[in-house]
Amino acid sequence: MFKALLLEESGKETKASVQRLNENQLTNGDVLVKVDYSSLNYKDAMAITGKGKIVRQWPMVPGIDFAGTVLASDNPAHSIGDEVILTGWGVGEKYWGGMAEKACVKGEWLVPLPGTMSAKRAMAIGTAGLTAMLAVTALEEAGIKPDQGPILVTGATGGVGSIAVRLLAKAGFDVHAETGRRQHCDWLRELGASEVIDRAEFDKEPAALESQRWAGAIDAVGGRTLARILSQTQMNGAVAACGLAGGVSLNTTVMPFILRGVKLLGIDSVYVSKEKRISAWQRLQTSLPLDFEEQSEVYTLDQSITAAHDLLNGQLKGRVLIQP
Ligand code: NAP
Repeated sequence: MFKALLLEESGKETKASVQRLNENQLTNGDVLVKVDYSSLNYKDAMAITGKGKIVRQWPMVPGIDFAGTVLASDNPAHSIGDEVILTGWGVGEKYWGGMAEKACVKGEWLVPLPGTMSAKRAMAIGTAGLTAMLAVTALEEAGIKPDQGPILVTGATGGVGSIAVRLLAKAGFDVHAETGRRQHCDWLRELGASEVIDRAEFDKEPAALESQRWAGAIDAVGGRTLARILSQTQMNGAVAACGLAGGVSLNTTVMPFILRGVKLLGIDSVYVSKEKRISAWQRLQTSLPLDFEEQSEVYTLDQSITAAHDLLNGQLKGRVLIQP
């Protein structure tokens, strides 16, 4: 038996409770993992609260990421005792996820914990950090360099945003952080932002082209915010779109693309290749402060339900770990 957070469909509602489940219910893979830590991402919060259509199979154990130790394996690439990370691949949506003492997944979905990284550090980084790293790399591959001007990060106090601020600052970029929570201004400056900009400035219908401000941007918000960023991006700049915290629609014009050569880069962490994951995790290991994991709150499975509501209500900042 093992303990897990279980989501059940109850009419149009989602019922979340901590339960003891039987190991023979874990049927989705060839590697059994003892979960040391999972983390609370926006997607997990949507699944647990039932506020978004995330869950594709009921009942569901949420948790789109976890780090832990292999307990049993039918996959030649993984042996008992290996320390591994799982992010994405529909885990926590289609397949039972990391908010449990144990998880069973396909070996090909796992990446090894890099170097001396602990499971706690891996999940303090988690899907949010992997996504931020993929976005930073995408901007660099699009030719954006620190001397070209400021990079805007939106949803900056969130998981993706706060790690993106740190990674960009570490890579030498001038980072401007957009937030709806000005009370965290000092914290964002500590992470490396040189300017903090109020959310209200972006949540407006943009003109087709506005004054050129950003060499690049990492956007976790979408909607009108993304449309406005595009209209303000400099000639040959690039915008990495990775989130939808402010909306899924994108009403814009072709003008930034055809008159300024702006590039819109889509970031997907769920099905990104294993090769890109491994190189992102290696860079994450050395790009974040040594005590990074100690700066995250750690919650139990029981506390994860309240934490999910708090995350969507804007009452959490940075990263939240779940220790089953
Ligand atoms: P998070 O920790 O909740 O951060 C989201 C942040 O967005 C919040 O902290 C808030 O920042 C801002 N925000 C929230 N509601 C908003 C609104 N209505 N309008 C404008 N800003 C709003 O979530 P996360 O885990 O970092 O994820 C951020 C986004 O990235 C989510 O949409 C998530 O689905 C997406 N994501 C995508 C991928 C991928 O593979 N593409 C991977 C991970 C996450 P401030 O308070 O600072 O404004």
